[in-house]
Amino acid sequence: MVFPPRCRICKKPSVDIMCLDCLATLPRISGSICVKCGKPTLREVGECRECTGRRLYFSFARSGGIYAGVLKDAIHELKFKNGKKLAPYLAKFISSAASDIADDIDLVTFVPLTKRKEARRGYNQSRLIAEELCLGLSKGLFTGLIKIKEVPEQNKLGLNERTRNVKRAFAVSSPVKGKILLVDDVYTTGSTVNECARQLKKSGASEVFVLTIARTPLTGR
Ligand SMILES: [Zn+2]
Ligand SMILES: [Zn+2]
Repeated sequence: MVFPPRCRICKKPSVDIMCLDCLATLPRISGSICVKCGKPTLREVGECRECTGRRLYFSFARSGGIYAGVLKDAIHELKFKNGKKLAPYLAKFISSAASDIADDIDLVTFVPLTKRKEARRGYNQSRLIAEELCLGLSKGLFTGLIKIKEVPEQNKLGLNERTRNVKRAFAVSSPVKGKILLVDDVYTTGSTVNECARQLKKSGASEVFVLTIARTPLTGR
């Protein structure tokens, strides 16, 4: 007996790893956003409440979609099961969010994992996306951003704790210059990408832009 190939997300028969229905229902961010962090807002703002009064080292952040539904499932698959197979689909999904940055950047980089964690997982999902974007945008990959310390799980922490947590978790191991596109899977409070951007700028990058596959829907702010 031959089992038909299935979509890794909805499990319906499909020759594609991610079927057309799932691709079509990814919760894309469209409409007004905070120009700084890319958060969906009722009307366009230069800085949302979360960005105000905060030292942000990246010029702006954009995300492909909301971390919910099909996209949340797809990112979970990317991280824990089918990273290599799903990366091209998700990179394509966020490439439109990168289009206004594309001409301006010199190099693409990604939020690193510690060596130990990457060895355990077998790959770094953010690196896979960054590599796909490099191909699409004809840019080089910068691999000198490294994670030197494991930090406690960020999920249940507030912004201040997260910021304190990620301090000194990252470093840059080789010189860098120019404008950098920093890729990550999910933007939650932005403390991780902000710390990475701080390190990159400290090491010579003139500007850092952030692109994530998704961002968490923030409520009550
Ligand atoms: Zn599907
Ligand atoms: Zn904002």
